Amino acid sequence: MNRDPLPGRLRSALNRDRLVQTAKELIAVPSPTGQAGAVLDRAAEMLENAGFAVRRAAGGHESAPAVVARFDSGEPGRVIQFDGHLDTVHLPFCPPRLEGDWLRGSGASDMKSGVAASIEAVRMLQESGLLKRGAVLLTLHDLHEAPWGRGEQLDRLIGEGIVGDGVLLPEPFCDHLPVAGRGAATWKVILRRSGPPVHEVHRPADQPSVIAAGAELVRLLQDLDKRLQQQVDPIAGRASVFIGQFHSGEIYNQFPQEAMLEGTRRWLPGASREAVEAEMRTLFDNLARDCGVEVDWEFRLIRDAFRLDLDSPLVTAFQRAYSAVVGQPLPTGPKPFVDDGNSFSALAGVAAITHGPRAGGQHTVDEWVSLDDLERVALVYALTAALFCDPAAQA
Ligand SMILES: [Zn+2]
Repeated sequence: MNRDPLPGRLRSALNRDRLVQTAKELIAVPSPTGQAGAVLDRAAEMLENAGFAVRRAAGGHESAPAVVARFDSGEPGRVIQFDGHLDTVHLPFCPPRLEGDWLRGSGASDMKSGVAASIEAVRMLQESGLLKRGAVLLTLHDLHEAPWGRGEQLDRLIGEGIVGDGVLLPEPFCDHLPVAGRGAATWKVILRRSGPPVHEVHRPADQPSVIAAGAELVRLLQDLDKRLQQQVDPIAGRASVFIGQFHSGEIYNQFPQEAMLEGTRRWLPGASREAVEAEMRTLFDNLARDCGVEVDWEFRLIRDAFRLDLDSPLVTAFQRAYSAVVGQPLPTGPKPFVDDGNSFSALAGVAAITHGPRAGGQHTVDEWVSLDDLERVALVYALTAALFCDPAAQA
């Protein structure tokens, strides 16, 4: 099964203590989304001390400039990018703590340990001399976790051309290779009538009911969702519009001035998000006209839809590396979430693979990662880079 001499040489370059130490040091620096400056500084310092070329790129977020590190073979070839976010959701800080094979703490799962594995992979390539051609580009940034961030720093970096020929993202996801995923946006509508709040027996006859207008909006959105049922991708699932909240009124006999509805809209790979937004705008404009209420609305992109080309050299290199390390290729499946891989795919048109360690508790105060599996990720990343960056190695 294992015809590749590379894993053995890489395995001996892998340093578990160093990998665990890197993960612990990243976890030890608190970094809620928007405030990841200190941990990015720490990562930049580590990479500089390890001898890599490091620069900082603000990407519109001056207080936490992204880390852009590079390890170059000195020979022409492809550039593989390892990309990770070092911000964590806004929850009470938990320091790093070892517990058997598990490392715990804020970001242990999402995704400081994965980042540590990608750093270990670059170190392994540097020490083993196995990167014969091309280069590894390592990018670390803030502003990933919604609602505090929406990937705007990464979008700027991509816009500035800080992009490799293929991207690996060590998010905590390892059961299958995600090949298609829906785009997602949030929408929010506020319906208003003019005039002050009044007792219902005094309500002016000519004033529209914001609750009735909201009910009409629910009906229109349900009709839309029924039509969207026809749009199905065999892997990503179906397009949808979803209502998560509907609030109005203060007490039972006061004529309300405002109603608020909020939800999500998801679309399939290949659909234009501009067209999706235009369809929502038409629906809200028609509601304002037909119900006589004022309609304020917003439509905010989370991430665009995603599709991975299974014939791309990145997938070939990744599956060959994965097979060499694990014994068989990783089965394919849907991407049930949106992540920064969607941005690389939509904005730069490059292949992006989300693959990281076995881990859990993301977005809770109970995060953990398996250190044995983290070693596997470092090996898969280093071997994928060696195979992808040297086109001759893939022949
Ligand atoms: Zn994450």
